[in-house]
Amino acid sequence: MAKHRIALIEGDGIGHEVIPAARRVLDALGFDAEYVEAHAGYEYFLDHGTSTPDATYEAVENTHATLFGAATSPTDKPKGFQGAIRHLRQKYGLYANVRPTKTRPVPGAFQNVDLVIVRENTQGLYVEQERLYGDTAIADTVITRGASQAIGQFATRLAMTRRQQLTVVHKANVLPVTQGLFLNTIMDEARLIDGLNLGTMIVDNAAMQLVRNPQQFDVLVMTNMFGDILSDLAAGLVGGLGIAASGNIGDQFGIFESVHGSAPDIAGKGVANPTATVLAAVLMLQHLGEAELAAKLDNAVNRILEEGPRTRDLGGTAGTEEFTRALIGML
Ligand code: ATP
Repeated sequence: MAKHRIALIEGDGIGHEVIPAARRVLDALGFDAEYVEAHAGYEYFLDHGTSTPDATYEAVENTHATLFGAATSPTDKPKGFQGAIRHLRQKYGLYANVRPTKTRPVPGAFQNVDLVIVRENTQGLYVEQERLYGDTAIADTVITRGASQAIGQFATRLAMTRRQQLTVVHKANVLPVTQGLFLNTIMDEARLIDGLNLGTMIVDNAAMQLVRNPQQFDVLVMTNMFGDILSDLAAGLVGGLGIAASGNIGDQFGIFESVHGSAPDIAGKGVANPTATVLAAVLMLQHLGEAELAAKLDNAVNRILEEGPRTRDLGGTAGTEEFTRALIGML
C-alpha cells in the first residue's frame, strides 16, 4: 500500500495541464502515493449543475491531502454557482491560507525576499453576503474572535519556526470594530509568545512597504481580502503567478494549489507554467512531513528556473511538456 493518499482535482482551464504535469514530477521524485482523482469547478458546474460533487467531498475526506489545479471565478455568476475552492475552504474550515513569497532565479525578481503571507481564509468580506436595495449595494464583513485567534496562533507558530517576526496587517484606523477585533485578538495571542518580534502595519502602508522594502518582512497575517490582494502583489515581486503557490490549511485537512486562476487565455495551448502547482506540491510535502522530498523538489525547481528551459511567462519559449520533462530529468 502507498504511504500517502492524495486527492487530485484538476478543476478548470490550465488545471487540466498543470495537475498531470505535477503528478509526473511527484512520481519522478519518488513520492510514494496513491491518487484519487476528483472534479470541481466552473466547467463541472456547466455540465452538471454543481461545482463540487459528493465524490469530491469523499476524496478530500478520505485522503491525507489534496492538490488542486485551478478554478474559474466568472464575474457574472450563474444562478446556483458556488466557487469550488472558496466552498471547500469554508466546508472544511481551512482557515489558514499560506502564501510563501521567496526570491527564485527568474528575470526581474526582487533579491533576498523570503516572506509568508498568512491570510484568514473563511471570513471577512468573502463570506459573500451581498444585497441590493434599489441603487444601493451592501456587503457584510464578518470577523469573529475565534477565527482571529486561530489564524493568530497559526501565524505565530509559523513565525517561530522562521525568523520569529510577525507583522499584523490591518485597517483598524478606519474600521475599528471589525478590523479592530482582528488586530486586538491577534495582538493578545501573539504577546504571550516569548521571543516573537511583533509589529503592526496599516494595509495601505504594507502595500507600499512590500514594494519598497519586501526584505523587511518575515510572516504577515491579515484578513481575507487584504491577503488575497497583497499576496498577488507579493507574487509579482518575485516572478509572478506562474511560480506562486499556496496552502489552505485547517485542523483536519489541507488543500494545496497555485495562486493563479484557470488562465482561460492560454488554456489548452500547452504553454502553461506548471511551476506554481509543483511548488504547491512542495508545500503539500512539507505538510505531510516529507521534508527531505520537499527540499529536493524545491531545489530542482530553483535549478531549472536558473538553467532553463523557461516557460513563456518567464521570458522563455518552453511549453508545459518541455518544461516538465526537463524538471523530471533534473530529479
Ligand atoms: P480566472 O477567471 O480563472 O481567475 P484569470 O485570467 O482572471 O482567470 P489567472 O488565471 O490568474 O486569472 O491569469 C492571469 C494572467 O496570468 C493570465 O494572462 C494568464 O494567462 C497568466 N497565467 C496565470 N497562470 C499562468 C501559468 N501557470 N502559466 C502561464 N501564465 C499564467
